[in-house]
Amino acid sequence: MDARYNPFTGEPVVPGHDEAIPAAAALGLEPPRYCEQCGRRMVVQVSPDGWWARCSRHGLLESAKLERR
Ligand SMILES: [Zn+2]
Repeated sequence: MDARYNPFTGEPVVPGHDEAIPAAAALGLEPPRYCEQCGRRMVVQVSPDGWWARCSRHGLLESAKLERR
């Protein structure tokens, strides 16, 4: 299964259908709220350096790792 979920709405992503991504999110300022892989709501923590979000099944996602090291 390679189903994906919108990280901001938790809705299943339909192939060929545009995803609605908030402008702040597109800039990396807004943390995702849902796991892209399973659609579960994640635990989100925002810090001065960025944010991290944790899915109980898929682990930690960090903004710092998505940008630069
Ligand atoms: Zn997950």
